[in-house]
This record gives sequence, C-alpha cells and structure tokens, in this order.
Amino acid sequence: MLSIFLDYISDNCTIFNQKCVVCSATNTRNGICQPCLDELPELTGERCPVCAVPAPENQPCLDCRARGDALDALHVSYEYCYPLAQIIHSFKYHKHIELAGVLGFVMWRKLGTIPPRFDVVIAVPLSNERLAERGFNQSELLREELPGPGSRPPSPDWCWRKYNTRPQASLGRDRRARNLADAFGVEHRCDGLCIAIVDDVSTTGSTLFELASALKNQGAKRVEAWVLCQAFSTFT
Ligand SMILES: [Zn+2]
Ligand SMILES: [Zn+2]
Repeated sequence: MLSIFLDYISDNCTIFNQKCVVCSATNTRNGICQPCLDELPELTGERCPVCAVPAPENQPCLDCRARGDALDALHVSYEYCYPLAQIIHSFKYHKHIELAGVLGFVMWRKLGTIPPRFDVVIAVPLSNERLAERGFNQSELLREELPGPGSRPPSPDWCWRKYNTRPQASLGRDRRARNLADAFGVEHRCDGLCIAIVDDVSTTGSTLFELASALKNQGAKRVEAWVLCQAFSTFT
C-alpha cells in the first residue's frame, strides 16, 4: 500500500492522467479509477441521523438523544475502512497533503455541494499545538476541495479549539466525551445562522456535537456536519 502511495504522490501532478490511489491503474481522472470508486465502502441501511450508527427507522440513537439536539444532521460519505482508512492515515499522519485532492473528490462527489441555505461552512479546527505539529488542518483541506469555489458559503475564522486535547484515537468512548467537554470556542455571534461543519473522520460524533453546541450557544439556528468517513470501532 505504501509503495502505491509513493508512486501516486510522485506521479500525480494534474487532475487528469493520474494513477489510481488504490490500485495504481493509469490514466485515471481525479486520482481514482471508476472500478475502485464504485467499490468504496458506502453506509447502507437505517441509521441514527446524528452519529450514523445503525438505528431503526433512521431515528436518533439513545446516546444522541442523551446528548441533546445541538447537531441537527450528519452527512457522511463513506465508512472508515479499507481503502479510505489507509489513505486518510497517510494523508494525516504521514503528511501527504497531496492526497487532499482525491479525498476531497470522493467526499464531495458523494455529498454534493453544501446547499445555499447554509450561511457559513467551517472546518473543525485543531488546537494550535496540534496544528503546529501536523502543519495543516486536514478538515480545512477537505473543505477547500468543495466544488464551486465561487459559489460556496464563506468560511469565517470564528472557531478555535481551546485545549490541546489528547489524540482521540488513544481514548475510549467515555474518555473521548470528557476529553472534548468545552473543547471549542466561538468568538462571533451566530444568531439565526445555518452552519455546516466539515470533518474528515467521525467516530462517536462527540467532536461534532461539541462544536455544534458551541455554535448553538452563540445563537446558531441550525448546525449540520459534513464528514468524509464514519468509523464504528473504538479506535481510528
Ligand atoms: Zn483503481
Ligand atoms: Zn446517534
């Protein structure tokens, strides 16, 4: 897999005639061939509209009911498993930011463009320390791949992550929720606004819920999340 990524990164300089990031097929468009695109792991069946766990009749699950209604809806492109999990890992932890193009392509191809009723679209922020360590915010790079740059809602810099929280991947479910309590700050009133938040991977939905809560506390009318992958295991 790694050698495929390295070939992919060294060879792909344009949208056209790229190697497929999954199978290395040549002359693909947007970095993934049609057969691999067709095989990406879609979420199927009835699911909780807030955290995407399987739930009868698409009703909110017990966990989400207990958390309240800060997050109005969750839109997820795919399940977090092969091959997207490996590509996202390479993107985030090996700093192959070139992969933002193909990841953004598959994400927004599935989700479509954020509808015009949204007033702003905000990438889930990283803490300053995490941003310095990684060098980029992966969610911001995915947001930048949104189709229609001229017509998308603006992306104001209103939110920040207050604490240098421990990596979510190293914590269990309960500790993740505690780790995120009051994790976000919003420095601008959001009265009456419809806000879309963008993230790369959601696991329990806690990060999205906390950011949505912070935005609602500043008066946001509606907050929906647009996410590339939903992970269903404890660790991502
Ligand atoms: Zn392929
Ligand atoms: Zn739920």
